[in-house]
Amino acid sequence: MEAEEGLRLGRSVAELRETFRSGRTRGVAWRKSQLRAILKLVDDHEDAIFEALHQDLGKHPVEVYRDEIGVVKKSATNSLSCVEKWMAPKKGQLPLLFFPARGEVLPEPLGLVLIFVPWNFPIALALDPLMGAISAGNTVVVKPSELAPACSSFLANTLPLYLDSKAVKVIEGGTDISQQLLQQKWDKIFFTGSTRVGRIVMSEAAKHLTPVTLELGGKCPIILDTLSDPSEIKVAAKRIAGGKWGPCSGQACIAIDYLLVEQKFASTMIEFLKKTISRFYGENPKNLKNLSRIVNKHQFERLRNILEDPSIAASIIHGGSLDEKNLTIEPTILLNPPLDADIMTEEIFGPLLPIITLTNIQESIEFINSRPKPLAIYAFTKNDSFKKKILAETSSGSVTFNDTMIQFVCDSLPFGGVGQSGFGRYHGKYSFDTFSHEKAVLHRSFFLDLEPRYPPWNDFKMQF
Ligand code: NAD
Repeated sequence: MEAEEGLRLGRSVAELRETFRSGRTRGVAWRKSQLRAILKLVDDHEDAIFEALHQDLGKHPVEVYRDEIGVVKKSATNSLSCVEKWMAPKKGQLPLLFFPARGEVLPEPLGLVLIFVPWNFPIALALDPLMGAISAGNTVVVKPSELAPACSSFLANTLPLYLDSKAVKVIEGGTDISQQLLQQKWDKIFFTGSTRVGRIVMSEAAKHLTPVTLELGGKCPIILDTLSDPSEIKVAAKRIAGGKWGPCSGQACIAIDYLLVEQKFASTMIEFLKKTISRFYGENPKNLKNLSRIVNKHQFERLRNILEDPSIAASIIHGGSLDEKNLTIEPTILLNPPLDADIMTEEIFGPLLPIITLTNIQESIEFINSRPKPLAIYAFTKNDSFKKKILAETSSGSVTFNDTMIQFVCDSLPFGGVGQSGFGRYHGKYSFDTFSHEKAVLHRSFFLDLEPRYPPWNDFKMQF
């Protein structure tokens, strides 16, 4: 069975390589036609996408539109209008020594790329990198997550109806298929997922010297400076609650993982957060209509274990109830859980928000720096010198001041991690670059040939 699967994968890979070699994917017309096809696919199947995400994660259609369909449409439209410009060779400035000559940097597609998709945003995180790979002129295998089966089969059934099926293939399956895919030779692997699997992917890729982009996770902090204006506190509370519990119930790589705040401001903020939670999600933990569910029993149990750890019981100050039947967990706030408990050492990936109080908010920098580099840091502050200090003294994939999560949809900024949160970046032009090789091209003429560069070496040439 495994050998059969291996043969099938091998045949798919050979066909994709053949398509790439034919040169068909290099022209701008092909790239644009595929981007248009993705736009049409999403337009034609909005209801099916709502349904698949409801089945896999209980996502509300508004959330699906904002975080998945909208993200894809925006990227497709942007790529369509820019791809020709991105493909154009750029002039390379040459030093006088090269005269007479001309230099250029020519983007070329890498070849055949493999895209691994996680389960939390299973449509956007499949189609967004796919559009980058297509814009850059590659052939592609998309491997959806087996933990979002409705979205996986939606992609497998629908993409071949819209896209060039000899250039783009969806291969479904679990760990066994992923491992077989990793045995093949790729020109690039784009992986979105956990740090644990990222390590496996990177070590398998090393066998073929395949370049990888690793979009991983981690613990993203919020630094919350003391605010005095109630209207600003209200905005901060909405943006924090919306960012923590909004997208996929905290099951997001850039979700807020923990909040750092001065002791003297903590109780005010907690009151604002509680009010915001009840406004957004209602008072009844059994009827959380606007909250996605936890993806599966395994993840639910993982979160239950975090929450039922006896060492943190006393720190739960809001929420904490679990609904096993519907796999939902109420928005939960914890105050000062022990720093060595799982909730403060592992990526939470769920609707639990630990709040850690500090004597002085400046200590937040040391707190963050004593942990692995996060994918995102959020900071709410009006203090410009504190902003500069955060930028200068911490390292993270991104920093967002006075908001949360929305950096993800800004195509003009690169999206990616650093250190344990991954490496490489994408979105907009950065996606195109991620899936391209920048080839250096030097055009020389036969005119002006300087003798000192050639042997035989002698005293005269030593003067140069
Ligand atoms: P995961 O690492 O379990 O799975 C990701 C992909 O890898 C899936 O397609 C899966 O089938 C495949 N896979 C699983 N086990 C494998 C193995 N042993 N060998 C090869 N491939 C394997 O991640 P997940 O649980 O789907 O997603 C959650 C994680 O992803 C979190 O850590 C989150 O922070 C991270 N994430 C990061 C980003 C980002 O943009 N940086 C976005 C979303 C999620």
